[in-house]
Amino acid sequence: MNTWSRKITPDMMDPNFETTLRKKLGEKGEKIPLCFQCGVCSGSCPVAFAMDFTPRQIMELIKLGVKDLVLNSSTIWLCAACYSCSVRCPQGVDLKQVMDTLKEMALEDPKYSVAEKAFYEKFIEVVRKNGRMDEVALYVKLMPKSTIMRNLGFGLKLYQKGKIHLSPTKSNSADQVAKIFEKVLAKEVQQQ
Ligand code: SF4
Ligand code: SF4
Repeated sequence: MNTWSRKITPDMMDPNFETTLRKKLGEKGEKIPLCFQCGVCSGSCPVAFAMDFTPRQIMELIKLGVKDLVLNSSTIWLCAACYSCSVRCPQGVDLKQVMDTLKEMALEDPKYSVAEKAFYEKFIEVVRKNGRMDEVALYVKLMPKSTIMRNLGFGLKLYQKGKIHLSPTKSNSADQVAKIFEKVLAKEVQQQ
């Protein structure tokens, strides 16, 4: 669904948004003003069809300072980090890196609560705990109790056919995965 026609109100704006983003990106941020809206990034993006704003539109919203639309968009969470936009941009904008930095900014502020962000956070929680993905654990974390109860019969059928497990399935490498998380978090603290 494209929401480009959504009404923009002054409370969604931050005139310093682009500057803040550029500072966070360091050297890579210097290319942001060079974007001339050619749309190569959107044409190259394998998930643009599912995003509420295409990568090109995100660049334009950044320049306009419409912070709330950018940080509450599904786009930044749906980005598959494939780098197609970054390698093809004729102006050298590293849009994949821009998407990552926008994610960090959205994570810092709980007012940005788009459903895709919740999915991302819960997904990471499950992987961190079990060392791998566990569909049942993710489902329970994400869905309201009423939905879980409504789908109980279907869940039971899946369980009986051996398609899902009720106890969390921990990976043999869970300890190593936990160590990777610890290292990444320690590095983030150092960089702050
Ligand atoms: S490909 Fe580069 S210059 Fe073209 S719209 Fe995307 S970011 Fe801007
Ligand atoms: S890095 Fe993200 S935004 Fe860029 S083309 Fe890939 S999925 Fe799309």
